[in-house]
Order: sequence, then structure tokens, then C-alpha cells
Amino acid sequence: MKILIATSEAVPFVKTGGLADVTGALFKEYLNMGEEACMALPLYRTIRERFDLKDTGILLRILLGSRPVEAKVFSHGDVFFIECAEFFDRPELYGTPEGDYPDNAARFVFFSRAVAELCMALNIRPDVIHCNDWQTGLVPIYLKTIYNDEFFSRTVSVMTIHNIGYQGNFDVTDYHLTGLNWGLFNPDWLEFYGRFNFLKAGLTASDIITTVSPAYAGEILTPEYGYGLDGVLRKRSGDLYGILNGIDVNEWDPSNDRDIPVRYGMEAIDGKLKCKKELIRECSMELEGGDYPLAAFVGRLSEQKGVDILIDSIDPIVSSGVGVIILGKGDERYYPLIMDAAKKHKGRVFSSIGYDEAFARRIYAGSDIFLMPSRYEPCGLSQMIAMRYGTIPVARRTGGLADTIIDYDPLRKSGTGFLFDGYSASAFTECLKRAFCAYADKRQWKRLIKDAMAGDFSWNNSAAKYIGLYGKALKMRLESK
Ligand code: ADP
Repeated sequence: MKILIATSEAVPFVKTGGLADVTGALFKEYLNMGEEACMALPLYRTIRERFDLKDTGILLRILLGSRPVEAKVFSHGDVFFIECAEFFDRPELYGTPEGDYPDNAARFVFFSRAVAELCMALNIRPDVIHCNDWQTGLVPIYLKTIYNDEFFSRTVSVMTIHNIGYQGNFDVTDYHLTGLNWGLFNPDWLEFYGRFNFLKAGLTASDIITTVSPAYAGEILTPEYGYGLDGVLRKRSGDLYGILNGIDVNEWDPSNDRDIPVRYGMEAIDGKLKCKKELIRECSMELEGGDYPLAAFVGRLSEQKGVDILIDSIDPIVSSGVGVIILGKGDERYYPLIMDAAKKHKGRVFSSIGYDEAFARRIYAGSDIFLMPSRYEPCGLSQMIAMRYGTIPVARRTGGLADTIIDYDPLRKSGTGFLFDGYSASAFTECLKRAFCAYADKRQWKRLIKDAMAGDFSWNNSAAKYIGLYGKALKMRLESK
């Protein structure tokens, strides 16, 4: 099948979060499966600096409103990069700590149109264009309008929601940039309470909608989780599917990870203990004099990730003798709170504000418990990575966390982590207590580690499910003709 993945980030080229892991790993899996896959990305400054790209010689002319803007196309294997210095030669992808780039609407209108223009310039007629999050949300509507011609007559679009909390919701004054008919600016298509919403455009115009876990596919149909788009989704619920993300199990493998001090596998988990000792040393923690668990959080510092209840839980966690490591970047209002906790509990709490993949890997390997008290979690990759490294997640029962973690049952001595329901520091710390109890029984804990590590988090199943859905969308298209 000819597949084009359109995305604003993908590993190994550029990453700010899980979206990049997912698109990069799915693309790689398609190539392994022998599918004719290619990928389109903006050419950000960081990619240009780090990768040796080929100039394809293709020049696209994209209309932004009435202004033509030129884009060169570069490539790296089957990955195509849209170059436009005006929009993408910047230090960050979407904005600075002061806020989003003010011209984000223009930047991603430009990129979405460039995706369609790229297909024509390369003479690739994809069977499917797989769009990801709001940044590519306009592609489906372009295929149904401006690019609804013979060239794309066999192309279907799939829109994947990685996080419905981010929608690309812009002022109506930006609408003229799209070149779309004003007739579409109504609540049935892309108007969202007087504004113009990229994700809504993708949800109304795509052939199939997916999201990244079955549980989240159910949750986003409700006002609590739908961020205002639940009504739109309920209308299209027959075309909405939840497909669990995988992780790249070769990239995330403790038996083959160059960034961790000692490599280990299921058969030699002693190596994990050495990683813990090393991590304790690296973070200058004082956990000697007892066998205390080490709990860690790695992730975006945002309300979504439950950082509020994490911070409120630090005192009770530390008073149980547990060490806490926090690595994260994000909402700056959390920085002083986290740094103050580290100062207050010096030797027991270590924090690092920033994005550091190598350190994250040492944390996944060296910790006992992985903290994920998310308010909501479309899929979550960190808990899968943690389990693969034998680090037991303590997480809220929501979205992909509910779908990937089996709550530990002490009677049957089975499970792969610990789940709690209510969104509160007390529910979180109660759940942590269950984990600490299990930790105290070495045999139980070892079994938990082995069961967690034995989980299959590869892309095999999910990639096959996507291919199945693409086939379904193509069939629907043929039948409607
Ligand atoms: P998100 O909602 O942010 O996409 P996911 O759990 O889906 O969350 O994916 C997060 C990915 O980003 C994981 O690979 C995680 O290890 C990584 N990550 C998040 N924050 C950091 C950080 N501060 N340093 C290093 N890696 C991080």
C-alpha cells in the first residue's frame, strides 16, 4: 500500500513529545513490513543542523491567502522535508517559553498545503495520507476541496488524534490564509465557537479517525475529555477507532541501551540494581541504610500529566522513606515548586528541569517505580518504556494507562503495575502504598518486574491494525463511488 505519513515531528529527526516517537516508529515498522511508505515533515533548523539531507531540486509554490510562498524539498531516504526559512528556520518547533509562535496558523496552513503539493510534484498518488494532530488537520479538508481532483481520486485520509487537548484553534482573521471557501466556516466543518479549528477540520473531513488507545477513544466522546470536540466525535463515532501505540522495542531495550551504566535483560535483572546504585550516586541521593524504593517521573511538566498531584504527594512519599527523581520540562509555573521540594528534601528528592534523553534512559533503568498520575493520557509511552526496563508504573486508570497496565492483584500475585482512579494526591499516595508493600516482598517484586518486562509493546499488532483500517477506508471510498 502507498502510505504518506504527514506529521510535524518524528524520531529520529525531531522530537518534542510522544507524537514523534509514534510517527517515527510507525513509519519504520511500515518499511519493515514492506509497505511503500514515505513521510513528510517541516524542515526545522535542528534537522538541517544534524542531518545530511539531499536537495531533491523540487520547488513548491504554496498559496498562503493570495501570497505565493516557495518551498524547497529535501529528502533523507523516503522522508521528505519541506523547507521554508520564513516558517521553519527557528530555534523551536511551535514556540518559545514565552508562548506559541504568533504565526502558527500560517506555518501549518503552509505545511498542510505543501503535503498535497509534494505528492503532485513527486507524482506519488498515495492510497492513504495519514495525518497526525492539528498541525496536519487541514490536509483532509484540502483533499476534499482544493485538491479534489483526478490526481487524489483514490487517496483516502486518516486523522489520528494524539492529544485532543491541543487543537490548533485560531482567530478567524487567519482563515483567509487557507484559501478555503468561506462556506466551510460553519459549525459543521471547521468553525469552533467563532474560531477556526485545525483539528476539527481533520475530524470532519477525514475518511477515518483514530486515536491512540481504545480507552481514550471512548473517553473523548464525553464532555469531560472531549475538550469541546466530543459532539463532533459522537457524530462520527462509527468512523472512530482506538489503536494502541507501540514503542520502538529496539530503541528502548535495556539489554542494548548504550546510555545506561549496565545492560540487563529479563534473565539478568541484577544489572538493574547496579543501574539503581549508579543513579543514586549520580543524583547524590542518600538512600543508604535501608533498601528503599526509588520512584521517578519523566515527562512534560503539565497539568495533563498530573504534576499538581505529584507535587502535593512529595512530602508523604518522602516520609515513607522513598527517593524521588523528577526530570521534566514544560509549564514554568511548576519549576520553583519542584526545585523547592528538591531543596527541602535534599538527598531524597532530585530534580532536573530540562529535556535529556540519555538521563531519561538512566532513570528508566535505575528506578523501581515510575510515577504517572496523569489527569488524562491518550496513550502514554513512558509507562511502556518503564515496564520494558522493569520499572513498575504507578498510574491513574485513564486512557492508554488503563489499556497497557494490569493492576497488581496481591492475592493472585499478578499484574504489571498499580492503578488508581480518583484524581487526587490522596488516591495517588494510597496507591503508592500498595506498591511499597509489594516492594517490601522481594520475591513478589521480582515477579512483578519480570511480568512487566515480558509485555509486548512492539508495533507489530498496531501497525497491522492501521493497515487494516486503511484498507477499510479505501473500500468505503470505492463503494461510495
Ligand atoms: P507526551 O504526552 O508528552 O507525548 P508520552 O508518554 O506519550 O507523553 O511520551 C513522552 C516521551 O517523551 C517519552 O519517550 C519520554 O521518555 C520522553 N520525555 C518526556 N519528557 C522528557 C524529558 N524531560 N527528558 C527526556 N525525555 C522526555
